[in-house]
Amino acid sequence: MNMYIQPEYEVIRNSDKCIACRVCERQCANLVHSFDSETGKMKADDSKCVNCHRCVCLCPTHALKIVKSDDTYKINANWDNQTINEVYKQANTGGVLLSSMGNPKPYPVYWDRMLVNASQVTNPPIDPLREPMETQLYLGKRAAKIERDEQGKLKNTLAPQLKLKVPVLFSAMSYGSISYNAHESLARAAEELGTYYNTGEGGLHKDFYKYGKNTIVQVASGRFGVFKDYLESAAAIEIKMGQGAKPGIGGHLPGAKISADVSETRMIPQGVDAISPAPHHDIYSIEDLRQLVYSLKEATEYKKPVIVKIAAVHNAAAIASGIARSGADIIAIDGYRGGTGAAPTRIRDNVGIPIELALAQIDQRLRDEGIRDEVSILVGGSIRSSADVIKAIALGADACYIGTAALLALGCHLCRSCHEGKCNWGIATQRPDLVKRLNPDIGYKRLVNLVTAWNHEIQEMMGGMGINSIEALRGNRLMLRGIGLTDTELNLLGIKYAGESM
Ligand code: SF4
Ligand code: SF4
Repeated sequence: MNMYIQPEYEVIRNSDKCIACRVCERQCANLVHSFDSETGKMKADDSKCVNCHRCVCLCPTHALKIVKSDDTYKINANWDNQTINEVYKQANTGGVLLSSMGNPKPYPVYWDRMLVNASQVTNPPIDPLREPMETQLYLGKRAAKIERDEQGKLKNTLAPQLKLKVPVLFSAMSYGSISYNAHESLARAAEELGTYYNTGEGGLHKDFYKYGKNTIVQVASGRFGVFKDYLESAAAIEIKMGQGAKPGIGGHLPGAKISADVSETRMIPQGVDAISPAPHHDIYSIEDLRQLVYSLKEATEYKKPVIVKIAAVHNAAAIASGIARSGADIIAIDGYRGGTGAAPTRIRDNVGIPIELALAQIDQRLRDEGIRDEVSILVGGSIRSSADVIKAIALGADACYIGTAALLALGCHLCRSCHEGKCNWGIATQRPDLVKRLNPDIGYKRLVNLVTAWNHEIQEMMGGMGINSIEALRGNRLMLRGIGLTDTELNLLGIKYAGESM
């Protein structure tokens, strides 16, 4: 016997406004809406609604709204509706609960508990409209000091670096978890912005090799789609050791999303779940990681910087120290609010630590060990605005990965149902009728708009601080002050309390 589970949302239709045009019925891949020919009216099956807001946005008469159901079990502070429903679901199916996107729990967001400094009188602000403001940066090893030979020529030989015109990159999202049109939008936007997008662990579709100089290709534990041309096509190679949304486990792409095209790109069978292993089966130590880093460099004639990506966990600083010594050029850290196409709910919501704490600890540890210039640091997993970017860089990052914000720009409404493969916005789906809803000509422009707007705001905030380059902001924690934080939190973040002077 399956226990009835109350719908989470209720579809409210204003019958005075509804003209029974059936747009909502055609637009909903979850089959919520239908036309009742007996009454001549529309009806809704609330139990199928995931609150993606597609029908609300496209209803020509604004007749629809989706509300959280107020139906409730007997009030119990310990056993709320969601907790009870999840027990029922598992008792019904015997399965692991699956979710998508980032951790939605109300844990502290440290970005919102840090305030940025501004210049006044004695250290005047800089006007970014009238004075140069540098947001261009390079990722990769830096020379500890500049050395010249007798002719005055530079003696330093550096590993290849990544050049970014803005301190923002698009984070790893695989073809398979997101659609062809979403990938095309990201690739074209990265090219126009002078930054990078990341293939995730899904391989690189043959149509996108032309964006190679703006592409970071990923090598994950499943090695999906990895071969020589793939590595050589890219600007950089990222070894994925972990992911913020699901630290300690591998990736999971449900079989329903493995179309013929995805299967060819990933080099795996069609329609079968793709589950990459939790560890890389050839990596059990920093020495093993070093071997893979150098194998990838060797395979690409030392022309590509190598990134190692880890999830933010308790001992991330010690791990990062090892990564810096492994020969990697860039460390990417992914916080526990990072998005995903599919993850076990319990892991997404309970494993990992906030990116802010991990970043501060890693930057400090690398500085203490005198190896901070050996690697760059990329952070992702809850970067929501230009203010978060500024704070992340002041806390020690070189640049930020954005994933969820990029998907929002493409139309995502955060219904957190990507794993179902029926994204009504054409993003997290492989169904051709849904994929075509995302027009890459519009999608890429919206991404360019978003990052361009952020870049303007970043320049304004830096100017307000009296700082004229990302390089001068990096790790400048004196520019940050905490608010509503405990001494332990301030200590971990390495910042002072608001009101404390320099
Ligand atoms: S889209 Fe709006 S007007 Fe059209 S049938 Fe649905 S609720 Fe009615
Ligand atoms: S990508 Fe699509 S399915 Fe995923 S959260 Fe956004 S709207 Fe929902």
